Amino acid sequence: MDSKTVIGRFAPTPSGFMHAGNLLCAMLSYLSAKSKGGKFIIRIEDVDLLRCPRSAALDIIDTLKAFGITSDEPIVWQSERTAAYQAAAQKLAAQTEIYPCYCTRAELHSPQITRLPDGGILYPKTCKNLSESDRVERKKRVNPSLRISVPDEVITFTDGICGEQRQNLDKACGDFILRRSDGVYAYQLAVVVDDGESGVTEVVRGADLLYDTPRQIYLQRLLGLPTPQYYHIPLVCDADGRKLSKSEGDSAQRLLKTHTPQQIIGELAFAANVLDEPRPIDIEKLIPLYDARKVPKERIVFNSEFGIRN
Ligand code: GLU
Repeated sequence: MDSKTVIGRFAPTPSGFMHAGNLLCAMLSYLSAKSKGGKFIIRIEDVDLLRCPRSAALDIIDTLKAFGITSDEPIVWQSERTAAYQAAAQKLAAQTEIYPCYCTRAELHSPQITRLPDGGILYPKTCKNLSESDRVERKKRVNPSLRISVPDEVITFTDGICGEQRQNLDKACGDFILRRSDGVYAYQLAVVVDDGESGVTEVVRGADLLYDTPRQIYLQRLLGLPTPQYYHIPLVCDADGRKLSKSEGDSAQRLLKTHTPQQIIGELAFAANVLDEPRPIDIEKLIPLYDARKVPKERIVFNSEFGIRN
């Protein structure tokens, strides 16, 4: 593969229907890669098979197709990639400390624990220095998760939309989970391994993942993988400022009952400053018009009569 080929991706978690925010993300990832003459791939992030039924994933793939968004490569399914995540976890263990954590959900969500902006917690290293006999004892009662030690060091990167970012992992999230207590590999690891293996050079995704990105950059460094160019796009919320949900009510399928794909694309393209006015359009026609510098930073408001305005 030409080392300069731009490769973008859309990586939905099929834990429900697609909403206008997911669709905007799919559109802009597609337009970003295609506007640079690059490839676009779809990856289904279904590591958690209990939350992510195959039917929901197939539904997303069909919805994307209705909007003219298809993958240039065979679709990657994370549920089939456990061996790759396991190999990466072993590689990480050879370079830094990975340790079992026996804390229960209730312990981790007690009022003394600091909450993170992304809904997670600042892990207080409770299980970091347990003795071997403590570990044996606790394992009798609790299946451990695996955590990776993070350095007390600032990670910086420049987001293509949100600009310069700095984060000290030790202060911002602490030692984070690589494998959950049910044996499922964590999103942070899976996303890095898969972006690396697919040669992804750019990641366009929702701003709710901006805070997680330094964790991913840390893993990329340890695994010897390049860091893609990140573009974190604004979230789409309802008129009350709430993030859209993946339920039927907010779904792209519901919009498709009353609007053509071209009308929906035109509205979203207008909201993202790709078009100067909302008008029905095929996604292919937007390719030459896309410019990441014009994408707004603020939240985009969506109302159910289908008006999307900044
Ligand atoms: N699977 C994640 C989601 O649906 C996105 C992950 C990513 O783009 O890195 O929110």
